[in-house]
Amino acid sequence: MAGTFGSCCTELTDAMSGEEFEPLITVGDDGVLYMSVGLVELEDEEPGMVDHPVFFCPFCGKGLQTPEEVREKTGDDDEDEGNA
Ligand SMILES: [Zn+2]
Repeated sequence: MAGTFGSCCTELTDAMSGEEFEPLITVGDDGVLYMSVGLVELEDEEPGMVDHPVFFCPFCGKGLQTPEEVREKTGDDDEDEGNA
């Protein structure tokens, strides 16, 4: 479903597709929409961006994805759903 984000308002569309700046809101390879929330200093490495999944559009407030969807996409599943 990657590519569906940003359809809620032009503000988000512009924020995701900045041509004159590096967008801090991006869709990851896993199809999850992430927002960069800061820089982290790594020892002996370049500073890295700290990304966090975006659940609601920061501009218009529309729900974009749910924690359950993010968990499914990232495979970061701590809960046993019981489906084999
Ligand atoms: Zn929006």
